[in-house]
Amino acid sequence: MKKTIKDYDLKGKKVIIRVDFNVPIKEGKIIDDTRIKESLETIHYAIEHDAKVILLAHLGRVKEKSDLEKNNLEIVAHRLSDLLEKEILFSKKTRGEGLEEAVQNLEEQEVLLIQNTRYEDLDGQKESKNDKDLASYWASLGDLFINDAFGTVHRSHASNVGIAKLLPNGVGFLIEKELNALKTLDQPKKPYTLILGGAKVSDKIGVIENLLPKVDHVLIGGGMAFTFLKAKGLEVGKSLVEEDKIEFCKEMLEKYEEKIVLPVDVNVTTEFDENAKNHVVAVDEIEEDEMGMDIGPKTIDLYRPILTESKTILWNGPLGVYEMKKYQKGTKDTLSIAVRGNRRLILGGGDIVAAAKELGFLHRVKHASTGGGAMLEYLEGRDLPGIDAISEEE
Ligand code: ADP
Ligand code: MG
Repeated sequence: MKKTIKDYDLKGKKVIIRVDFNVPIKEGKIIDDTRIKESLETIHYAIEHDAKVILLAHLGRVKEKSDLEKNNLEIVAHRLSDLLEKEILFSKKTRGEGLEEAVQNLEEQEVLLIQNTRYEDLDGQKESKNDKDLASYWASLGDLFINDAFGTVHRSHASNVGIAKLLPNGVGFLIEKELNALKTLDQPKKPYTLILGGAKVSDKIGVIENLLPKVDHVLIGGGMAFTFLKAKGLEVGKSLVEEDKIEFCKEMLEKYEEKIVLPVDVNVTTEFDENAKNHVVAVDEIEEDEMGMDIGPKTIDLYRPILTESKTILWNGPLGVYEMKKYQKGTKDTLSIAVRGNRRLILGGGDIVAAAKELGFLHRVKHASTGGGAMLEYLEGRDLPGIDAISEEE
């Protein structure tokens, strides 16, 4: 178990919290503030316990000067202030006298947000390369470091790994929740089923190799199903196929024949367009000019008993092109089965979480991981440096 914010007395302490404020911004407006809202619990806790709160966060990528203004975190400071119903301080710079003074003058229960950590990437990628001097400068501003940005734990940056090594530390509530969910996957209650969708096999090779030996069943849908179907010798028309992954799929099908469930019917169309006509066909009846956009009802019938008896379900990637309403059905029907009953359902991946939200199932999911890339690397069996850098409970 990792140390958490609850293991420390925060009163009067300068607590640096690394949060995930990497929100989507369009035309100067925040279009989805979910990430800011998700970090509130930890920030509220620090305020209530009389900490002097210092927030570090990144926004987008900063490669050249022109990236600075569009990734200015000030816009987040305003939204955070609204959400906290409290004035907060903002440091326009990531270092310097102004910042140091603001930190010195910080009172208990006050909140100071520091400019986008990736401003430090402009000159030699100091943040992203975990520059030692930068990490020790930031660490010098605080007494304690709390990491609550799950979205970046797969990266070794100055603002997460660098600081953690220099200060007493722990995780916030958001990361604690993620870790608890991931822990259930280390020793999953069986039967354990993996639902794998999304666009490409090539994005998920690591996940497939790491998880197939561990799960009892894997239900493959989405675009990646067609490379598997092709590997079985079927003609899939214009469906998404990665020719160079057919061999890999063949190998997986041979090795894990018993576990892998492929679609038996699909919803096809002739154009990648919502207005083009569509219909459901068996997988061996796809015409040359047709492409598969979603799994069909007979496939759902095949999934149902497997999902119903599963005690743990891990799901990455939507089962159809859910951005188009008429190809949401496969994902929706599968979700409605998976959320029922007494089992652990964990969603990992940006698109499957977005789909569950849009389709109104998110509140019924036991755990939806907010860190797409971090979750994926964990599922590939890789280390998460941002977590490894945090101390274990004594
Ligand atoms: P996640 O973010 O959950 O890991 P991915 O990013 O791997 O998921 O995949 C999501 C994308 O997969 C979506 O944009 C969706 O449109 C696409 N997709 C799903 N089914 C198909 C399909 N049959 N053909 C092409 N693309 C598909
Ligand atoms: Mg995605």
